[in-house]
Amino acid sequence: MRVVICGGGVIGACTAYFLRRHGVDVIVVERTEVAAAASGKAGGFLARDWCAGTPLDALARRSFALHAQLPGEIAGDWGHRPMSAYGGYVAPDGDPRRNAPSALDWLGDGVVITQRIGTPETTAIVHPRKFTSAVMNAALARGAELRVGRITGILHDSNGTASKGVEIEGSIIEADAIVIAMGPWSLLAAQWMSLPAVYGQRSPSIVYDIGPNVPADALFLECETDGSAVSIEVFPRADGSTHVTALSDIAPLPLDPATVTPDRDAIARLQAMSERLSPLFRSDRIIAQQACFRPVTEDGLPLIGRVPQSDGLYVATGHNVWGILNAPATGEAMAQLIADGAAHEVDLAPFDPARLAPLDPSLLQAR
Ligand SMILES: Cc1cc2nc3c(=O)[nH]c(=O)nc-3n(C[C@H](O)[C@H](O)[C@H](O)COP(=O)(O)OP(=O)(O)OC[C@H]3O[C@@H](n4cnc5c(N)ncnc54)[C@H](O)[C@@H]3O)c2cc1C
Repeated sequence: MRVVICGGGVIGACTAYFLRRHGVDVIVVERTEVAAAASGKAGGFLARDWCAGTPLDALARRSFALHAQLPGEIAGDWGHRPMSAYGGYVAPDGDPRRNAPSALDWLGDGVVITQRIGTPETTAIVHPRKFTSAVMNAALARGAELRVGRITGILHDSNGTASKGVEIEGSIIEADAIVIAMGPWSLLAAQWMSLPAVYGQRSPSIVYDIGPNVPADALFLECETDGSAVSIEVFPRADGSTHVTALSDIAPLPLDPATVTPDRDAIARLQAMSERLSPLFRSDRIIAQQACFRPVTEDGLPLIGRVPQSDGLYVATGHNVWGILNAPATGEAMAQLIADGAAHEVDLAPFDPARLAPLDPSLLQAR
């Protein structure tokens, strides 16, 4: 059996790895490079039980456990480490609460920590680009193949009911099964199959090199800027890089993932907010100013499973803010579904693509 995975982000990489563990032949087709998009630019924060009470709970718990297990299975160092998480706010200038020293001494006096929201047992972090690359390398070491190319269509049988392969700008790769894992660009696949819409939600981020001695504490802070309250997230990683993100917006998704760029004003505002958090966030410590698009579905849940009305077509996307967390369990479940006919660890019913109406392909052609 040969499976072609369209997209070399974290979801494609994890699906490739677990399929190879089942002994299935795998070719990953990636348009740009592995982890070129959100999977290379995310924070990398992981939480075991922050999806409790939602349909994502079992997926997140299984994935959190797999994240802890994979460093013992796969070569490479992607900085998986347990961490604490704190919530709080940034007191504005002149506010009397600014005078108390922050509970976390690397932060400025304006940062007020109000609660601990994660412990090293329940929260952790990875470097997402290094994680995605390590998992892809592990799949390649087990015999998977990676090709750089742009998927431009799906080849169907004469009845149009079964997929036979993928088209890559004029050439064809035959396959028994195809997995669409192109993040927000999975939207384009709705031209070729009956697929619900997937949207891209843009977020800017700045990565600082502030050294590995900053404590392993994720921060979720409310901050007032330009008269509005904004949530800002800070993720210190094991390699000394710290990822800061806020200010998501809606922007058109560029067709080419390589041309995603941040909005300059958003980066300037984010930088100004970061400088209020800690004296360590200096401009000479910036190593990346970037943006990426999270894949989002209409009901906020991922699409993981068989594509309706087509034999051999599968989709795994729409993981929104939890794609790095949920990638291992998604890859494991996809591999079981394709190789064994059903996922064993996690019930995929809440993520069945058939729950949502398919996108009208004429809407895409009109663009
Ligand atoms: C700022 C930010 C912070 C985040 N922080 C976290 C976090 O802390 N924790 C967490 O769990 N999640 C986080 N996320 C979410 C997470 O990054 C995403 O959910 C996840 O990376 C999506 O992975 P993916 O593989 O589905 O998509 P992508 O990473 O978008 O990968 C899709 C791949 O498909 C390729 N592709 C596109 N079109 C084609 C084509 N035609 N042919 C071939 N290949 C194609 C692209 O080049 C790309 O490499 C964050 C997201 C953002 C934006």
